[in-house]
Amino acid sequence: MPPRHIRKAVLKARISSQVEDHEPKCSIPGCGRPTMRSAKQGLAAYHCRYHVEHRARHGSHWHKSYRATELKPYLAAASDWIEEHRDEHWVAAALTSLTALMDDAGRAETANNIRGLSPQRRAKIALARLREADIKPERLLGIHLAVYALIEEDPGSHNVREFRVVQVAKAAHRLASGYHQTWDDIPLEGGKTGRWEIHRYPRSSGRVLRHLGKMIEDECEHVTDRYRKDVLALKVSGFGRHPAITNPKPTPLALPPERRRPSDR
Ligand SMILES: [Zn+2]
Repeated sequence: MPPRHIRKAVLKARISSQVEDHEPKCSIPGCGRPTMRSAKQGLAAYHCRYHVEHRARHGSHWHKSYRATELKPYLAAASDWIEEHRDEHWVAAALTSLTALMDDAGRAETANNIRGLSPQRRAKIALARLREADIKPERLLGIHLAVYALIEEDPGSHNVREFRVVQVAKAAHRLASGYHQTWDDIPLEGGKTGRWEIHRYPRSSGRVLRHLGKMIEDECEHVTDRYRKDVLALKVSGFGRHPAITNPKPTPLALPPERRRPSDR
């Protein structure tokens, strides 16, 4: 590899190049911002800076991360399913390897000690924190199954691997990160007392999330490939269909039905 200052110069030249190898406007419908290449901000030839950063954080140029409440019924179904099938060959194997993955993740460094470490190392530290927080392998397998079932059922979702992997990592990361404090007996007006809670999660970089999601995926995919439909069926029987199916709303990104399957016409 050429030295760093050469690589930097080459990158700069590519970003500011006048070659017409890019689109002028972002390809996300309704966006209209200039692409990073046309704005000379970066190499993205088809997307603007906003949508490039969106993809780094969420794993999709346009679909935002799922909230914990949206994932909840799928997690409940996955957890029940795992409980029933923990002795099944693939499930038992995944739980064993997830345990090993967390056991081998090294020390759970504090936030102050991870500055400057590689994304790979930081993803391992995230796993070590899950271990220290006593997160069981069943939770991680449950997250993988739940995220895949949710993305499969939600007709408005972005069903691509990158989005799935980042969403798995975000859900796992939420289990053990950040600063949480609760104060009880805070005096309120009228002599009452209340509770005050602060929950702060440091934002994990997109690259750390991709490494973390990939490590979890490697151990879970055999189970999820085989059984996510069973988990989805269990979720539907317990909680009903996804709201976007029972109560569909037009989204600006969904193609009109007549354009969706031109071969059917
Ligand atoms: Zn855009």
